[in-house]
Amino acid sequence: MERESLEMDVVFVGAGPANLSGALHLSNLISQHNEKNNNALGEIQIAVIEKGASIGAHTLSGAVMDPRGLAELIPDFKERGAPLEAEVKEDHFLYLTKKRAIRSPINPPPLNNHGYYIVSLNRLTAWLGEQCEAAGVNIFPEFPGAEMLYGENDRVVGVRTGDKGIDKEGKQKANFEPGVDLLAKVTVLGEGVRGSLTKKLIQRLGLDEGCEPQVYSLGVKELWELPDDRYPAGRVTHTLGFPSDQWTYGGGWIYGMQNRILNIGYVTGLDYRDPLIDPHAEFQKFKSHPFVGKLLSGGKFIRYGAKAIAAGGWHAMPKMYSDGVLIVGDSAGFLNAARLKGIHSAIKSGMLAAETIFEALLAQDYSAQTLAGYEQRVKESWITPELRQYRNFHAGFRHGRWLGMANAGLQYITGGRAWGVLDRDHQEAGHEAMQKLSAYGYHGDDVAQRYQDFKFDGQLTFNKVTDVYHAAVAHDEDQPAHLHVLDTNICSTRCAEEYGNPCQRFCPAAVYEMVDVSEPGAVATGSSASNGDPRQRQLQINFSNCVHCKTCDIMDPYQIINWVTPEGGGGPDYKGM
Ligand SMILES: Cc1cc2nc3c(=O)[nH]c(=O)nc-3n(C[C@H](O)[C@H](O)[C@H](O)COP(=O)(O)OP(=O)(O)OC[C@H]3O[C@@H](n4cnc5c(N)ncnc54)[C@H](O)[C@@H]3O)c2cc1C
Repeated sequence: MERESLEMDVVFVGAGPANLSGALHLSNLISQHNEKNNNALGEIQIAVIEKGASIGAHTLSGAVMDPRGLAELIPDFKERGAPLEAEVKEDHFLYLTKKRAIRSPINPPPLNNHGYYIVSLNRLTAWLGEQCEAAGVNIFPEFPGAEMLYGENDRVVGVRTGDKGIDKEGKQKANFEPGVDLLAKVTVLGEGVRGSLTKKLIQRLGLDEGCEPQVYSLGVKELWELPDDRYPAGRVTHTLGFPSDQWTYGGGWIYGMQNRILNIGYVTGLDYRDPLIDPHAEFQKFKSHPFVGKLLSGGKFIRYGAKAIAAGGWHAMPKMYSDGVLIVGDSAGFLNAARLKGIHSAIKSGMLAAETIFEALLAQDYSAQTLAGYEQRVKESWITPELRQYRNFHAGFRHGRWLGMANAGLQYITGGRAWGVLDRDHQEAGHEAMQKLSAYGYHGDDVAQRYQDFKFDGQLTFNKVTDVYHAAVAHDEDQPAHLHVLDTNICSTRCAEEYGNPCQRFCPAAVYEMVDVSEPGAVATGSSASNGDPRQRQLQINFSNCVHCKTCDIMDPYQIINWVTPEGGGGPDYKGM
């Protein structure tokens, strides 16, 4: 197949805050240098590619933004019309029991948000995209990075974008267009959490050697339109407790946006032990709490979304450079889990990458040796003390909620040491924490046990299919599934027996379904046979529901689900999220 090659200088993969900030800063540095030095660097071609249909379409966050990063990138961001919902005026922290909401007299210091801004990251990202375009950066939405391109000695030389117009059998359709090889001196991976190219690059080059495994959470979120001003713009509430059990890391957020829009969500740690946990159902239960339910009563549910969060912190960050490549933002794990904040550090990491690339352009040297300057810049920036202070935050919750909280307090006092003395607390990968049904104490294979008393009422609480509809997800159904399950036999045998097919629960978009495929009178095999159930079940992948949250790639207990990019433009449309 003939493929077009396009020679760029720098290619940024993923148009999130990290890469857009990197592209803008790089473009500004080059323009300033060229103005002062008689156009010494000449025209440098910078491209940003994005898998979503538009810039920001796949961007989902809380979000309360610490403005530190944006203020460094664009000091007059307010005057230039950055879309800010509201300045934070009130911070509340509540502990929820089943029926009560107990207000904490003090706000935990990492959750002090006064002077920060509530934003729709979707809008902010779209705005950053406009700033980039105005500065001459080439932006290509609907262009997923499908494969890294390597030269000699594993040097990264660019990225191949995904083919368009392949049918579900893998054959070319009438509208077939092969992907393009975008060749670059430096490729910057800013794919966000659990980037599909980043994952492979890290594995191939062993960039995570000596690191703790990255651990994740899943944030599930809805926007509601309230009938009155009961929750003002600029009010921030965080909750702990109900409905999470004490072995499950989790908490809720409620942020007041403009025009009486309430932004509400729930985070569940993707290192839970109970194999029957369903993070979407945990969020729905959270809304059924009397305090939250009252807040939403009479309101209208308008949007839904879900996305994973990289929570491992400092000790889980991989080496962020190699020959011809840098990793920025959530792809490198810059998020501070204690503060639930990553926008500011994503922006800063993009800027530090830009400064390193600028230096490399001047030296015409794109080797790992020069690009190592990026990690050095990170070490010398405000990112490092911030992340080191909370370096053992998430690991402490392996010992349960209360010891995790006590540990977080101790770390605050000791500058990040776990249990007051340890520099580094170890954590296992999240999928390894999930226990088998029998080990967790479940009897039989009734996977509805955990939520048997909970019902979706269609008013306050919604099932996954209704929610997914409100994520405005669209994928052309006549394309190969972008969720590759490497061995589907495991699903109907070992996984059914050991974990009760947890993909049906951890996916917040009803992508995975075990369907009954038994022939009348057929003899049962596998787990069905051992428990006397004559039905034969097979995995069905409803890939068109996928909201690109990456949870399946992260949480599958056998690590046999591989998330790859679908045809460009497919996925959710997170307007206003
Ligand atoms: C539920 C939730 C709540 C959060 N709350 C807050 C908060 O209150 N405050 C805060 O500061 N931070 C918060 N964060 C974290 C914050 O959103 C992230 O740290 C930040 O968005 C990271 O920016 P990024 O540019 O690294 O990645 P992203 O914002 O994830 O952007 C990555 C982009 O790359 C694209 N992409 C991915 N792979 C490819 C590919 N192969 N080819 C082309 N395009 C690709 C994606 O579609 C996406 O547009 C929250 C995150 C979540 C999920």
